[in-house]
Parts: sequence; structure tokens; C-alpha cells
Amino acid sequence: MKYLSTRGDATPRGFSDILLEGLAPDGGLYLPATYPKVDAATLARWREVASSSYAELACEILALFIDDIPPADLQRLVHATYTEAVYGTKAITPVTKLEEGLYLQALSNGPTLAFKDMAMQLLGQLFEYELARRGERLNILGATSGDTGSAAEYAMRGKRGIHVFMLSPHGRMSPFQQAQMFSLQDANIHNLAIEGVFDDCQDIVKAVSNDLAFKRRWKIGTVNSINWARLLAQVVYYFAGYFQATRSNAETVGFAVPSGNFGNICAGHVARQMGLPIRKLVLATNENDVLDEFFRTGTYRPRGAAETHETSSPSMDISKASNFERFVFDLLGHDAAAGARTKALFGEALARDGGFTITRDEFARIASFGFVSGKSLHADRLATIRSTWQRSRRLVDTHTADGLKVGRAHLEPGVPMIVLETAQPAKFAETIAEAFASETGPAPVPEVPAALRGIETLPRRCTVLPADVARVKQFIEAHAG
Ligand SMILES: *Cc1c(COP(=O)(O)O)cnc(C)c1O
Repeated sequence: MKYLSTRGDATPRGFSDILLEGLAPDGGLYLPATYPKVDAATLARWREVASSSYAELACEILALFIDDIPPADLQRLVHATYTEAVYGTKAITPVTKLEEGLYLQALSNGPTLAFKDMAMQLLGQLFEYELARRGERLNILGATSGDTGSAAEYAMRGKRGIHVFMLSPHGRMSPFQQAQMFSLQDANIHNLAIEGVFDDCQDIVKAVSNDLAFKRRWKIGTVNSINWARLLAQVVYYFAGYFQATRSNAETVGFAVPSGNFGNICAGHVARQMGLPIRKLVLATNENDVLDEFFRTGTYRPRGAAETHETSSPSMDISKASNFERFVFDLLGHDAAAGARTKALFGEALARDGGFTITRDEFARIASFGFVSGKSLHADRLATIRSTWQRSRRLVDTHTADGLKVGRAHLEPGVPMIVLETAQPAKFAETIAEAFASETGPAPVPEVPAALRGIETLPRRCTVLPADVARVKQFIEAHAG
């Protein structure tokens, strides 16, 4: 399997070549040259495999995309990742029925209680393996306002050849999020609390990464959501969810996906391109509705920081969907001409005009990819959290509530709708309390999993620094691997 760039660079690269990279040299994103197609016999076999082992299913799917890691090594890494010990259930991503035709698939049973663990945990294994194979090391630099940073730290803790430098806005993350990250005692994890806001953290990361000499000297890398391996790991749970919610491969399903950077739902798109019988991919946004606008109108207009709303589903507060370019490349035909057009849209029009509108013909093609969309506001989240509890005795988090709200609007008789649960409600206890504030009687309290109970009282490892690029560089020089 070779990989190419969405902006036309077709230099053949293997999986291991792009694993540790971010953007392609031409500024595009990596995609497989073609999507492997799953025939009926394979899908039937996978249904059997999935019923006994999520990790085995993952091995089957990943092997179609990765041919430059020996199969036995890949199996070892995958089996070390998706274990009952880490995810607390044998199913890894268990599907439960909420009501007739409506299902919830839990992607949030990993160490940090959010779906990013599903991919990041595998990435930790793959990075450690590949770095050892090359005799290289990597210093991961990132900025976080919550979920991504903790998922990266829990995936990379104790991994050989890797250090993590994670910048977060000092005093601005929730107490639970701070405790989650700062209580890690691993020597290769470095929490830098920056005296500023999230944008300051991101600016520092950009400034450090733009210093190419420093970047090369200190082997600075990232784990952001455009990484192809992250996306690939997420393809697996679409298959796992489909097999759990259906009895036969003649059935079709819908998936409703709370979306921000378009990473999660892009994995669903890849699964559908492979032949998984997905009838609809329902994209749910919160108040930050850049993607809903695109799927309704064909216009993509990323917003600036000033136009980005702070919401109660904060992990979806994005103004620019970094994985979206992958879908547009496929919509345009996934070939050389598509590469040229994608480059004109994302490499040129976006910078020049601040956005673009695809043609009517291009827009008309979206239906054949199964995408529909909708948005969910704060009041919708509260109402959905409440009604889901009252109807099904299931407490959902704010992001999942966005998915449920929009998924419900696209229900069709006879087509199971699987809503992806992307975080556990314990991470957003304040909004849960708000949802039940006007009810009489005791409100449900989200349960904190045993492994994380009392983390607020643990000793913390964190260095407070001013929002100053030079100081951050000094810190990296003093602590890098
Ligand atoms: C990151 C995240 C999302 C958004 O996922 P994308 O892949 O960026 O679309 C949704 N919910 C939660 C809880 C998240 O952490």
C-alpha cells in the first residue's frame, strides 16, 4: 500500500514513511493511493472475528493498509493496545441499544475517558516500534486545552525514545483535566503550564516548529489529528459497531458523529469507501458550525479565533477542520486532477479568499458519499442529556449529546442509527448538573471510573512558564531525549 498527498504529490511512500510525519511536503494530507475493497466473503469472516476479538479485527483491517511492518510485529502491537485491562470491557467499544433503532457505541472507555484514546494508544505503540527500528528519537511538542494532550500523554508515557512537551493554558483547564495530566509521574512527560490562553500555547508550538534548525536538531514532532495512523485506527470501530448493531451483512446502518476536526467521521468515510454498508454518515456540530454549513451549502469558510464560540462541548470548538481536506479530495475523484483542484482550493483559495465554494456538480456528488449534517446548541445538549437519562437511564456527555440530537433528526425506519459516544460524562460534570438543575428530586451524578477516583489529590508534575518562545525552547533543550 502506497500513500499520496491530497495536493497531488504522488511520490510513493509506505506507511512507515508517513507514520512519523505531519503534512506532506506539498502541504497536503496523506491518503492511501486506493482504498482496499472488502468483499462479501471477507465481511462475513470479519463478523465472526469481531464477535470474539476487537484486536483481531483491528489486525485484519490494519494489515490491508500496512505492508511494511512484519505481520507478527503488527499483531503484537495491536494486541498490546486493545486489551480488556485498558478498556474495561472485552468488546472494547461496546454497543448498547437506547431504544428501537437507536444505539450508542462507547469509544470512551480508554485511560482518559475520551475517544482519542482509541487511536492515540495505538500510535504510542507504533511510534515506539518505528523509532527503535530506525534508532531515532522524537520530542513531541503540542498544545492542548484538554482531551488531546491527556490522550497523547497517556499513550506516550514510559515509551522509549519519546518525550512529550505539552503546553496548556495555566489555570484554564478543568480541575479534572489538570489532575489527569499533571499527576503523571513519568520522566518522559513534561507538562508546561503557560501563563496565557490556548492560542498563546498554539502560537508557541508554531513558532518552535517554524524554527527548522531547532526542529531538526531536537527532533521535534507532533501527534495532531491529521496523522494518518490515527485516522486508520479509528476505521476499526466503525466495523466493530456495525457488526454489533446488525444481525446480517445485508443490513445498512447510520453513524452519527460529534465532529470537530473531521477526524472521527473521516474514518467512517474510509470504512464506507472500503465497502462497509453505511447508509448515512451524520455529521453533528455544536455552535461552531463550519462543517454543517459546508454540507448544507457547499461553502467552506473557516472562522478566526474571534468567531469561534466557547461551548459546553469544548472538544468540538474548532474553526478549521484539519482533516476535511481528505474528504474533499475524495469527493473530487481521488486522482491527479483531484489533487490539482484540492491544491487550488486548500492551498490557494483558502489563503486568498478565506474560503471557497465547490461547484454545483461537485456538491451534487456529496449525496453518494452518504453525508448529511446538523447542529446542536447548548439548550439541545441539556435537553438531550435529560431526555436520554429519563428514557433510557443512560447518562451521556455533552459531545455525545450533540451526536444524539442530530442523529435522531436523521433516523429512518429499519436503519439502525449508531451514535458514537466520544467522552464519558464524568469529564463534564458541571454541565450534567446544569441539565438537571430545574428537575425536582435527586439528579444523576456521573460515575468516575475507579482508576481515576481521587486523582485531584495526587502530587503534580508541572512547570509554569511565561508565554515566551525562548523560555519554552530552553526547557526543551534541558529535558529533551
Ligand atoms: C476530539 C473530540 C471530538 C471531535 O472529534 P474530531 O475527530 O475532531 O471530529 C468530539 N468529542 C470529543 C469528546 C473529542 O475529544
